[in-house]
Amino acid sequence: MSPAACVIGWPVEHSRSPLIHNFWLKACGVAGAYRSEAVAPDQLQSFLQSLAARGYVGANLIFPHKEAALAWSQPDDRARAVGAANTLWLDGELRATNTDVQGFLDNLDACVPGWDANGGTAVVLGAGGAARAVVYGLLERGTPRVVAINRTRQRAQALQEWFGAPVCIAAWDERNRWLSEAKLLVNATKLGMPGEPDLVLDLGRLPADAAVADLVYVPLITPLLRAAKARELRTADGLGMLLRQAVPQFQLWFGEKPEITEELRNLLEQDLAASQPPGQE
Ligand code: NAP
Repeated sequence: MSPAACVIGWPVEHSRSPLIHNFWLKACGVAGAYRSEAVAPDQLQSFLQSLAARGYVGANLIFPHKEAALAWSQPDDRARAVGAANTLWLDGELRATNTDVQGFLDNLDACVPGWDANGGTAVVLGAGGAARAVVYGLLERGTPRVVAINRTRQRAQALQEWFGAPVCIAAWDERNRWLSEAKLLVNATKLGMPGEPDLVLDLGRLPADAAVADLVYVPLITPLLRAAKARELRTADGLGMLLRQAVPQFQLWFGEKPEITEELRNLLEQDLAASQPPGQE
């Protein structure tokens, strides 16, 4: 049987991972398959326990499963340290790792070279599975202070307790106040995605040398990125991260190292543009 992998989320329809992995399967000449699986939180355990029986060698986890999946898999050191996994593979047992950290850092290095020079404060919006990967990556690269701001304070508190002293938390209603101190602003919430409210922020408060990263990639140019570009701030989009975190996943599942080509990026940009509401670019 040819190997198959899937993306597991709730919802999952927006995910462009099938486009990426199916492009690479063809480009690498691998006779495999990659599908989407909509799995509700209360079905995650039974779905993961039947992964092999469903013909899968591994899976990509998206919201809201990245933290919960640790309980039903064997996390490696990286996933354990982050407290969230985005990648599962079967290797006698169900193993888990986190490629979001590398995807986030590689993309930031490519789009905002030198972002980590001279220290400074990073403001991270969100405290879910993706925010954990972002905070872990920022601390790994020596960011001296991370301010985590989340709608649900307890979740931000849990993140602060997990990572310790360089992380402090602030209330969601106070998010604008922190912008004037931010050298880097990261949106790791779902805000800005289709069906979700916009992220309302007073970007005018960011310093002129600040950079802005948005993990949301549907739409490609989110309202946050558009506002940052209008201020001529340096930006990193979610699609770049999505592509970079997918490379090690494909290697784990299908045994080949795929390439991020211009053709693939163009394909994704066209697909995202086709689903963009009229009047937005
Ligand atoms: P998650 O674990 O479900 O967390 C969702 C986060 O969004 C939480 O912090 C949540 O706050 C916040 N949120 C949701 N609705 C909100 C609202 N109406 N107002 C304020 N905050 C709200 O999801 P995740 O896995 O961390 O993913 C978060 C985002 O990152 C998604 O958009 C996902 O597509 C993106 N992502 C992108 C990549 C990439 O490669 N580009 C990789 C990973 C994730 P509460 O705690 O208050 O609910």
